[in-house]
Amino acid sequence: MKKKINRMLVAIASLAIMFTMLLITVVYYDLLKRQVMEDLRAHAALYAARESDEMVSEQYEQRGIRITVIDRNGKVIFDNEVDYQSLENHGQRPEIQDAFSDGEGWIVRRSETLDKSTFYYAVLMEEGVVLRVAKDAGSIYSIFARVLPSLFFILALLVAVSAVLARFLTRKLIRPVEQLAANLDAHNDKTDYEELAPFISMIRSQHQDIVKNAKMRQEFTANVSHELKTPLTSISGYAELIETGIASEEDVQRFAKGIRKNANRLLTLINDTIRLSELDSSEDEIVTESLDLYELAASCVDMLTVNAEKLGVDLHLQGETCYVKGNRQMLEEVLYNLCDNAIRYNNAGGSVEVSVYPEGDTQSPVILRVKDTGIGIPKEHQERIFERFYRVDKSRSKSTGGTGLGLAIVKHILARHNARIEIVSEAGRGTEVTVTFLAL
Ligand code: ADP
Repeated sequence: MKKKINRMLVAIASLAIMFTMLLITVVYYDLLKRQVMEDLRAHAALYAARESDEMVSEQYEQRGIRITVIDRNGKVIFDNEVDYQSLENHGQRPEIQDAFSDGEGWIVRRSETLDKSTFYYAVLMEEGVVLRVAKDAGSIYSIFARVLPSLFFILALLVAVSAVLARFLTRKLIRPVEQLAANLDAHNDKTDYEELAPFISMIRSQHQDIVKNAKMRQEFTANVSHELKTPLTSISGYAELIETGIASEEDVQRFAKGIRKNANRLLTLINDTIRLSELDSSEDEIVTESLDLYELAASCVDMLTVNAEKLGVDLHLQGETCYVKGNRQMLEEVLYNLCDNAIRYNNAGGSVEVSVYPEGDTQSPVILRVKDTGIGIPKEHQERIFERFYRVDKSRSKSTGGTGLGLAIVKHILARHNARIEIVSEAGRGTEVTVTFLAL
């Protein structure tokens, strides 16, 4: 970018310098022309007041000034350089015609060679004849050619100066951008260029997002490794005890049960981790269809009834057929996670009520509510339960087969469905989770 701006500035400066020089040459040539004409006019006046023809003619010849006298018919009656009798009639020459009609006339004619021009000045004398004074001078081309070397020298000098200036200017222009790149973490959006402010704040927020995501991923990897380690250590410990052969048959059975439980934990953990990274990595639109949320909730309740009964929790469903646009497998996951939590974090004799209903008439949003009378979530934890691996009571979560990823998956899926989730909970009294789906 620096190089490009630099090159552009130098190119602009060079062009400007070249145009200026051309203009100066043209103006200079015009001045020269006027000067020559003034000279010729003065010579004409002097010649008109001459005393001796021969002497003056010679002097003029020596100075390269040609004097010609033409009579009214255009016939040349005197010339100090050539034999005037051999000259053709001059009546048609513009400068002669002008002199006869207006008193004086002038013209510049290009010579046979490019580098010379002849300047003519003609004036009507009192005797009724026209006196023409002519002189050769350099043409505009020859003047230009003569000044060309010095022009090149000046041009080179100016280009060098402008290159240095351009470098300096470019550096000054670019500095705020470089400073921004070096201080992406700084929290101020102030800049020397107000036009850059929106761009800077966009880059900063993108940079912060990237840093946040990287940190989250790092934490996630560390957490996953930690979570995998615990069941694997148990499995390895049980296996070691069996291996030594000192365990009784009863113990072996107990250890085998321990191994199976921990292996199941590992599987669930790995499944949830895979699911989350799938949701993280795929930005594609999800495949959706029109689904009866009530029907989905009914099969989820069916599937979890045995679990609920085992824990002495009463699980029931109420509501009506409500259609939402969504991905079947994802919505099943949401329902499963929410109902499973409501059962697992409940007390024996407690209840879970799942309801599906439209918020108003048929065109309004659809509500899914899972309300339990369980242990509840203390206020200070409520904000964080959607974070990966965040658990209020770690041992209870683990002993009931939790991974700490369920609600993170739910949040992810609902965000993909443009659905809103709200949790109202009171420690010791129960939790109410409300999901609002936009109407079809
Ligand atoms: P887990 O696999 O541990 O259940 P989740 O992500 O599903 O993980 O939930 C995170 C935490 O939120 C749980 O560990 C639990 O402490 C709390 N939680 C979730 N749902 C409920 C609920 N219905 N009642 C009480 N606490 C809950």
